[in-house]
Amino acid sequence: VATLAKLADLNPSKLSTTNTTTPKEVMPPEELVFGRSFTDHMLSAEWTASQGWLPPKITPYQNLSLDPATCVFHYGFECFEGLKAYKDSTGAVRLFRPDKNMARLNQSASRIALPTVDGSCLTALIAKFVALEERFIPSVRGYSLYLRPTMIGTQRTLGVGPPGSALLYVIASPVGPYYPTGFKAISLEATSYAVRAWPGGVGDKKLGANYSPCIVPQTQAATRGFHQNLWLFSEQGENGETEEQVTEAGTMNVFCAMVNKGTGKKELLTPPLDGTILPGVTRDSVLELAKERLVPEGWNVVERKFTMKEVAEASDEGRLLEIFGSGTAAVVSPVRNISWQSRLVDCGLKEGEEAGPIAKRMKAWIEGIQYGDEDHPWSFKV
Ligand code: PMP
Repeated sequence: VATLAKLADLNPSKLSTTNTTTPKEVMPPEELVFGRSFTDHMLSAEWTASQGWLPPKITPYQNLSLDPATCVFHYGFECFEGLKAYKDSTGAVRLFRPDKNMARLNQSASRIALPTVDGSCLTALIAKFVALEERFIPSVRGYSLYLRPTMIGTQRTLGVGPPGSALLYVIASPVGPYYPTGFKAISLEATSYAVRAWPGGVGDKKLGANYSPCIVPQTQAATRGFHQNLWLFSEQGENGETEEQVTEAGTMNVFCAMVNKGTGKKELLTPPLDGTILPGVTRDSVLELAKERLVPEGWNVVERKFTMKEVAEASDEGRLLEIFGSGTAAVVSPVRNISWQSRLVDCGLKEGEEAGPIAKRMKAWIEGIQYGDEDHPWSFKV
């Protein structure tokens, strides 16, 4: 009886580094456009079904060469992550909760028959990579190095099946603050003709295949003057009425602060992780900080489904305090109004105000941890 040899894990001690001979010029921070410029190097590791993970490499940033029959091009074997490296006031480089991104990468990869990695090994490799690219991280508050771990199936076959080989790589792009001149509240258009995710689907995984179908609804909202679209999920309620649940705003999770109609208590609501919601690292951080710092002030923090009808009703009755999106890109993104069923629902911001108090405080708290102003276990020094 043949016994399977144990497949090799991703091994940081086997890392080899080939330095670039043509170092790039570091762009002036104010010229940075999200995701357009990249650092000198990339981190990568190949995997085969028979050997497991081969020794990881840091090489000059370069094109991939793949056969046109490679399975990623045909059946969408691709998943990714997004996290940032920040420079603190002492010049030290920090990651924010990388363990969360590693866990989510594994959840995504295993759903599409790609291999998983040891999260702490990949974090250790990313730390080495980021340390090498340190000069690309502006020492200016709000700036950071966006990291894009990506995994693709690389088997050369048109046969539909689990990829026999894969490539993991991480590229890095210096980025500026999402709101260079301070918060700007956004307008959302609720999308009723398309859904992003559904029960039993893969909306809670970070698969490339979840993103391409979202661009047309997003572009259509933009042509009508909205910054983002709001994804709803319609279900028939108990009374037979269609309930349009709020799920996500563009590529952000959604938070809604309102006064509860029955109890008069202030509540911070966000949809539960029921499989249709991307489990955002920022979402989790907002929830944790809200439980720690807002509950003592009398807030209720609740993960539950809520509908556009509830939001509109709270707005009409003056109970809607604020709505904001959460995500790695902007930390939090305040919402001014939502176009829904041929009306514009006002989200509670006062005239001339660009963010509500909860959004402002959350941004300050989370950035304080990301940039190392507050000593916190979520901050990982490379
Ligand atoms: N929802 C979607 C669909 C996203 O793409 C993202 C960005 N990863 C988020 C929510 C926010 O997740 P995070 O806080 O981890 O950036």
